[in-house]
Amino acid sequence: MKEVRQIGVIGAGVMGKGIVYQAAVQGFSVCLYDADPEALEQAIPQLESLVARQVKKERITSSEGEATLDRIQPADSLEALASCDFIIEAVVEDLEVKQKLFRQLDAIFPDEVVLATNTSAKSITEIAAVTSKPERVIGMHFFNPVHRMKLVEVVRGLQTSDPVVEQTLRVGRELGKETARIQERPGFATSRISALVGNEAFYMLMEGVGSAEEIDRAIKLGLNHPMGPFELGDLVGWDTRLKVLQYLHETLGEKFRPCPLLVQYVQAGRLGRKTRQGVYRYD
Ligand code: NAD
Repeated sequence: MKEVRQIGVIGAGVMGKGIVYQAAVQGFSVCLYDADPEALEQAIPQLESLVARQVKKERITSSEGEATLDRIQPADSLEALASCDFIIEAVVEDLEVKQKLFRQLDAIFPDEVVLATNTSAKSITEIAAVTSKPERVIGMHFFNPVHRMKLVEVVRGLQTSDPVVEQTLRVGRELGKETARIQERPGFATSRISALVGNEAFYMLMEGVGSAEEIDRAIKLGLNHPMGPFELGDLVGWDTRLKVLQYLHETLGEKFRPCPLLVQYVQAGRLGRKTRQGVYRYD
């Protein structure tokens, strides 16, 4: 397979920016595209701030920071990514949007370019099915914040080829990450477990097993989790959690039935940190 020097990232949201930083700091040239010109325009100063924070925390030197930013290029069209050797898609978690995009990518990129998706839970097989070469489509599931989280889950769809899996594992390692090789099933390994844990914690809250603080404390100190289930859900967003649970309930059955109290939190707009109130308040 082609040696990867230049990575194209599509989607300049939370995850796209994180992936761009990680790829650039590890020495790849990176092109970033977003369908929303404003998101693209804001991405560069936000990446500059991220680099400045890393320099301040002495995780990188200021010359490494400058070199990192020099490797990042915004692109004003998908076609402008045509020289990239490897593509990572990080647009909204909507199957139709992703399928439409993958049809376009299929037409633009030569066959040897891997098309990876950062989807949290959608089917790689279903995304790949709209392309003429489904064997080059693969899941590459990063975690938030990308520069701090150690893992990338490499998810193989039904038709993903062996060389594409190997190439993606290699790129994952070159991005400084540990990899886990996962066969596609709804929720992969990580989203399936974290959705279940977050849901169960809500059932426990509803049943009066303990306060959110006490449950989080018990899970952190007793089970050695770095964050409690409510702290983590507040970070991810309960709306996102609910969407994943609904999909897992549909595909994997009853044990994923969303807890009614969790549904009420979403209905109330208590989505987590992003709305300043979830299970906890963030004033
Ligand atoms: P986000 O909403 O922050 O960003 C999505 C970006 O995609 C936006 O800037 C939007 O303008 C852009 N976009 C939408 N449609 C597009 C298109 N057709 N072409 C180009 N750009 C387009 O979303 P996010 O949180 O960064 O999530 C992106 C993906 O990563 C999703 O699939 C999500 O499930 C997955 N993911 C998210 C997290 C997380 O913690 N947020 C973790 C792992 C994986």
